[in-house]
Amino acid sequence: MSNYANNVANDFDRRILFNMPLRKAIALFSALLFAIVALGSSAAYYFSMQKILNENLEQELKQTLNTSHLLLKAELDKEILLLKALSENPNISNYFSDPSNERAKEESFALFDSHKKYFDSKILNWININDFNLYVNGQFMEKYSAGNPKHAWFFEVLESKKPPMIQVDFDYLNRHIYDLYVNYPVYADEKTIGVISSRISLFEFVNKLRLPENVFIFDEHGIVIGAADENIVKEKKRLKELLGDLRGEEVMKRAFKMNKNSSIAFNFDNSQYVVNSGEKVNLFFVAKDKVNMAKILEERATMVFFALLFIMLLVFFIFNKLISHILKPINKQMLSYIESSLLDELTKLPNRRFFNMRIEDEWNRAVRGKYPLSFLMMDLDKFKNYNDKHGHLEGDRLLRDVARIFSYCVNRTSDFTARFGGEEFCVILPNTSIDGAKKIAENIRISMERAGKATISIGVVCKTPGLEDNMQSFIDLADQKLYDAKNTGRNKVCG
Ligand code: GH3
Ligand code: MG
Ligand code: MG
Repeated sequence: MSNYANNVANDFDRRILFNMPLRKAIALFSALLFAIVALGSSAAYYFSMQKILNENLEQELKQTLNTSHLLLKAELDKEILLLKALSENPNISNYFSDPSNERAKEESFALFDSHKKYFDSKILNWININDFNLYVNGQFMEKYSAGNPKHAWFFEVLESKKPPMIQVDFDYLNRHIYDLYVNYPVYADEKTIGVISSRISLFEFVNKLRLPENVFIFDEHGIVIGAADENIVKEKKRLKELLGDLRGEEVMKRAFKMNKNSSIAFNFDNSQYVVNSGEKVNLFFVAKDKVNMAKILEERATMVFFALLFIMLLVFFIFNKLISHILKPINKQMLSYIESSLLDELTKLPNRRFFNMRIEDEWNRAVRGKYPLSFLMMDLDKFKNYNDKHGHLEGDRLLRDVARIFSYCVNRTSDFTARFGGEEFCVILPNTSIDGAKKIAENIRISMERAGKATISIGVVCKTPGLEDNMQSFIDLADQKLYDAKNTGRNKVCG
């Protein structure tokens, strides 16, 4: 394809590229695509992040809870072991079997005394089935009887098969404090002959665990008996008051359905919960925390932003590649269309149709820009004779040579040369004075003359067109000038 055709094609490319509706459509499509990619990846990031963080949090909460739970267990086991050691001591079983055995009694009291300092409770009770005397820290308190409901626990322990029996009860003296009783039977010849019981204030006991802020211990009524803040326990707050009605309800609903000594984890109302149930006591541990996505996103916003920017650039890159790939055959088609419909087959110069388009554009531009528009109308002299003499093929060759001469003489990119028809050519010279136009015309004439095959006659016109002027008259005038050149001897420039 000729250079000229290429230039024309590029010009068309630009027109298409800068075509506003198309650009708008592409911009809109890109923006939409970006929005979808940005939203999609943000959502994916958000949800995967949330999932990972929730899983981490669940593990963290489980560990926190297990630590507290194990501590409680260890403390309880220590009490139980102490009671076991006492109950299995032969002196104590001797004394329980026969309270009148003064020696056994003395040694038992000494034992109780020495063990007492190891207990957390510091309160140690014992009763045997021979005299039913309740001793509290070695002091006789009262005689136990089967009919008294307050004494029922003792008879229950006597009958229980599996020591130890652990109970959580109110402290009847200080009603706001829960007490934990660990009751251990004393045996002689496989028969229960009494009970040793340690009484621990649950409040003090739990206090020793140093619970984290997000962990609470509650009982089967939903009353909090362990928290980092001891006032919560003192005020006998309910779990619902601390977590909110709905959340408290949910935690209790799940906790009360659990097996003993088990653990569950669940997510409710955007918070993560882990609940453990006690093994020996009817107590529940709950740990609660929340993944603060806003804070995490804020911390990682820059990272997300750059990631998105990268994705966006990638999408644009791929998109552009795709578009140019799609446009390639269209461009090719367009180029061949331009060549076939707008360029002259023989000389590869713009044809009459292209000229008609262009002259109108240039005319309007000159009207707007108020600058002079020059125009050359040219016709080969006696070309018929040339043809007759050298043949049509040689005539064609001459026409191609003329086109080459034009390309030397007409230089500005805004200038436009066309084959007007047959052996007639024209040049549009935007923003060119009559003198400049005449110079170019003279140049063409001389170049033709020097080439020595044929001469050319040229009509030159120049006008700074206004809205009232007629373009066709302007062209006709150039034609008129050409005739003048012909009529005054040919090989002339008339203007
Ligand atoms: P004048 O100086 O008055 O212009 O004389 P002329 O012979 O050039 O003018 P005329 O209009 O009588 O003849 C034009 C000739 O140009 C007719 C035709 O043989 C020739 N011609 C037109 N188009 C072509 C073409 O594409 N190839 C060739 N070889 N000749 C062409
Ligand atoms: Mg002619
Ligand atoms: Mg002619």
